[in-house]
Formats: sequence, C-alpha cells, structure tokens
Amino acid sequence: MEATFAVGETHSLELFVGDITRQSTDAIVSAANALLLGGGGVDGAIHKAAGPRLFEACRALKKTLPGGVLAAGGAVLTGGFDLPARFVIHAVGPIYAEHDPARAAELLESCYVQAIGIARREGLASITFPSISTGVYGYPVAAAAEVAVAAVKRALASGGPAVVRFSLFDPDTFAAYHAAAVAVLGAPRAEGA
Ligand code: ADP
Repeated sequence: MEATFAVGETHSLELFVGDITRQSTDAIVSAANALLLGGGGVDGAIHKAAGPRLFEACRALKKTLPGGVLAAGGAVLTGGFDLPARFVIHAVGPIYAEHDPARAAELLESCYVQAIGIARREGLASITFPSISTGVYGYPVAAAAEVAVAAVKRALASGGPAVVRFSLFDPDTFAAYHAAAVAVLGAPRAEGA
C-alpha cells in the first residue's frame, strides 16, 4: 500500500505500510520518550536495528538537556549507526491522556515542525516519520493523522526535505493518513496496491 501526494511545486508526501527501520531516507524519525533511553514500539525497533552506538549517542545527548529530559514536542538529532538511514531524529510526542486535546495537538504538531526544521538545517533531501503518539501514547489515529499532515504541509512551506515519507505499520493507520492527506493536499499523484 502506498500513495504519493504533491506538496506545493517541489515537495512530495509519500505514505506506505512498512517497517521504518528499513528506510534509506537521509533521516528516520523515532517516536521517542522524554528520557531518550529507548523503549518499546517503534523506538525499540529503531534502537535494535541501529545497534548500541545509538544508545550511547542518546546518553551523551541527554546530558546536554535540562534535567536530562526532552520535553514533549521536542526533537533532537543523532547518527543512524547500523541503520540504512544516516540520521535519526528523536521526537517526543504527547501522551494523549496528559493534555487537553488542543494542547496535545500543539505538541504533536511541534514534533513534526521541529523534525522538519532539523532536516532543513542539515540540508537533508528525505525523511521518514512513523505515526507519532498513536501507539502506547494513545493519540486517536484519525486526529493525529490530520495534525501530522497539516504540520508537514505548513513546515514545508519554509523549505525542507523534498521527500517526506510516512512509514505506517498497519492498513488502518495507512487509511487514516490517506484520508488526512486527501483532505489537506487533494487527490494523490500516484497510488499503488
Ligand atoms: P508512541 O509511544 O509515540 O505512541 P509507539 O511506538 O507506541 O509510539 O507507536 C507509534 C506507531 O509506530 C504505532 O502506529 C506503531 O504501530 C508503529 N510502529 C511500531 N513499530 C514500527 C516500525 N518498526 N516501523 C514503523 N512503525 C512502527
């Protein structure tokens, strides 16, 4: 399952069902937790595939953060180590139940905007996101997909990677992002089974 949408003249948004750890875009984004020390879900899979040097890089980076914590809505960059991707951007999504829905949306939007900002500053051509916060963090998928696609569109208006991909782990999550992309960006430019 895949679909490609135009974002303005020069950028594209690609949705597909698959494992983010296999992606060879310049960067992949992890749905990290505030302690940056790995966890379950997509973050655990990324740490496993990147090898122990990613854990060491996170530990070093953590020491530079106030209280050793990356607040929800924040994003930071490390290398990709054993991954096909050169970089990992660690973004901390909101735990849905901890905020009112409007604040949760702001924090989720901030993850995407900050990650694309890092990619822009680093001159990266491509980036792959997972569906941040919709696993253990409990963000309803349809609402998260709308926030994510709108945030990517807004962030790319200031430049950034030409290709933004979403690695979605199951067909229902793909369907939610597809619906959000059609609503925000219009009909897809290409679609595959
Ligand atoms: P969060 O704590 O931000 O909710 P999770 O890792 O629990 O993050 O879930 C976020 C999304 O990532 C979920 O849709 C989950 O199914 C998906 N996911 C889990 N493993 C992978 C993977 N290897 N590649 C892509 N997506 C994944």
